[in-house]
Amino acid sequence: MTEIFNGVFTQQEPIPQAGIDAAMAVLTHGRLHRYNTSGDEIAEAALLEEEFADLTGAKYCLAVASGGYAMTTALRACGIGHGDTVLTNAFTLAPVPGAIAAVGASPIFVGVTEDLVIDLDDLAAKIDQASVLLLSHMRGHICDMDALMALCDAANVTVIEDCAHTMGAHWNGIPSGRWGKFGCYSTQTYKHVNSGEGGLLISDDAEGMARAIMLSGSYMLFERHRAAPPPETFAQIKYETPNISGRMDNLRAAILRPQLADLKTQCDRWNALYAVMDAGLADTPGMTLTTRPAAEGFVASSFQFLLLDWDPAAVQEVIAGCLARGVELKWFGGAEPTGFTSRYDSWRYAASEPMPQSDRILAGVIDMRLPLTFSTDDCAQIARIIRAEVSRVFQAQAAQ
Ligand SMILES: *Cc1c(COP(=O)(O)O)cnc(C)c1O
Repeated sequence: MTEIFNGVFTQQEPIPQAGIDAAMAVLTHGRLHRYNTSGDEIAEAALLEEEFADLTGAKYCLAVASGGYAMTTALRACGIGHGDTVLTNAFTLAPVPGAIAAVGASPIFVGVTEDLVIDLDDLAAKIDQASVLLLSHMRGHICDMDALMALCDAANVTVIEDCAHTMGAHWNGIPSGRWGKFGCYSTQTYKHVNSGEGGLLISDDAEGMARAIMLSGSYMLFERHRAAPPPETFAQIKYETPNISGRMDNLRAAILRPQLADLKTQCDRWNALYAVMDAGLADTPGMTLTTRPAAEGFVASSFQFLLLDWDPAAVQEVIAGCLARGVELKWFGGAEPTGFTSRYDSWRYAASEPMPQSDRILAGVIDMRLPLTFSTDDCAQIARIIRAEVSRVFQAQAAQ
């Protein structure tokens, strides 16, 4: 019997009832703008910031319009602008080089390893080419952060973390986003909490956060922020910093607060799905799975495997075979970028040097979402289908 999977890879869970109720309250009173408060009311956006700072252990937090906006704001707050260069991952998603382009800077791409983390040897070789590293924990894979920080600290390179896929994750017990000067998160629908669009920025750096708050469009209302540096920090910064509006509104904040309270439970559920996938695909001939060190406290809201050194036509055959059985895989090695997949050489507004070692890996990366609407039984079935299709094509290739 040929198994067919009937689930939908892009279906999210509903917003929790507490979030719906809080959203209705905001809609009913009508004060959606974060600085539109009545009497001594504390805005939902300010409460969200306070709660996320608490959750991550950061001193300061700013809620913004998107993850991309969080990254551009962090770059600007670090003084990055026109003509500067910024180190970043060759394996990431389009909003990351996009954030660098948005401030007029250019990326210097750093390679990827078979475990889908930044290549620290390549980083060491390029470290003197920029003063900032925008580090993307792409698809939730976290590199050896102790080694990365030692390298960057020694070279005086400021680290900004893109934690779009690592909200709730940690390396060696320290939350992702707490290693660098800034941690940037997305609350877009496909990330770990869902407000449609949105972002969060955390930092312990008072000056940097004061700049970020002014940049986000706080007018002279920065004292209404709670997870923020004291007013003295703004004394000069309030005159020097342009307003580049990108605030979060109270409606999204209201939807997010109950989701933050559930984050730990949700992360455990993702990891339970991942464990079933990982076990179901172990030792599949022709397939390489990523190894994940004990220090990596990951949150697996997606799953990746590699078909290393495969003929592109054979990879296509696996993808088509899986799709015919209801399993939607995304391939980072396709000749043309499609959907959410694109590579450093697809971003033609930014110059890049060829990176043969990374190209070999990117050519084999297969990616899939693990939405929480899937059960562990669903994941076991998905793994059986992928295993069967990969084995079928691999054996046919070997026989040629
Ligand atoms: C989604 C994403 C972002 C940015 O998110 P938006 O909120 O959509 O701007 C940044 N980095 C990565 C790796 C992402 O997947």
